[in-house]
Amino acid sequence: MKTAETLLACCVVGLACFIGGQTIGARGNSVLDEASGTIVGRPSRANMLRTRMAATPSAASRTAVPHSEERLVADAAGNARSAGNTDEMRRRIVSGMSGTYIDELLAARDSAISRWPDRVTRPLRVFVREGTELEMWNPDFTPAVRDAFDTWVGARIPVRFTFVRDSATADIHVRFVSTFASGISGKTVWSRDGAHWLLSSDIQLAVTHPNGGSITAPQMRAIALHEVGHLLGLDHTRDTENIMSARVRVRELSEADKATVRLVYAVPAGSLKR
Ligand SMILES: [Zn+2]
Repeated sequence: MKTAETLLACCVVGLACFIGGQTIGARGNSVLDEASGTIVGRPSRANMLRTRMAATPSAASRTAVPHSEERLVADAAGNARSAGNTDEMRRRIVSGMSGTYIDELLAARDSAISRWPDRVTRPLRVFVREGTELEMWNPDFTPAVRDAFDTWVGARIPVRFTFVRDSATADIHVRFVSTFASGISGKTVWSRDGAHWLLSSDIQLAVTHPNGGSITAPQMRAIALHEVGHLLGLDHTRDTENIMSARVRVRELSEADKATVRLVYAVPAGSLKR
């Protein structure tokens, strides 16, 4: 039987998202998002936690809390997927890929699907830490971010979210920062096990543009939609009509965004390589 330590021979992927321009949704004033996902090898459990803490310095206390429940779910699911299922995964992906950008996702992720285990009856717990100490804080940011999570659920995926007050019990942590260096507007870091099942995630969102201008609540919602798309396992697409475009020019999920995330959640996590 696999031990928790074996399962945690996992990878941490960081997605740093950058924006430029003043507004989101207006043609010609796009949000530039240059997410870069980097698998940092197969670190030990201790190394994984250190990596996450480096990405989210304030998370030191919560990273000490093991997400053992999530790991057990991933263990069972990972063991259940035999190598023989790769052909079935490929068949389902091919038959369902029309109207999606799954091909771009697979190209970016070395032919692997990373996703959360189904979490309908046991929703993923989301802790949103409000940035009331930030000069440009807007109380409308919190409902905007919550709406972004709920909007993805509306795409009919087998994942639900519940917003919790205790960060120690959360699977997903969201916090706001004043700004990032080099124009970063959002950052999503998630960890997964060796079978590509997602385990936990952290999102950071900037409340100001790189030039110092304030971000509006609708803009924050659009940025959060993009970051939650990463959190769910999506990557970038070239089509700027989609929220997962590297240059975010829209404020709502496209049919392709919805179809792609549904297809991701129609198959188990794992590599499509034979
Ligand atoms: Zn991105």
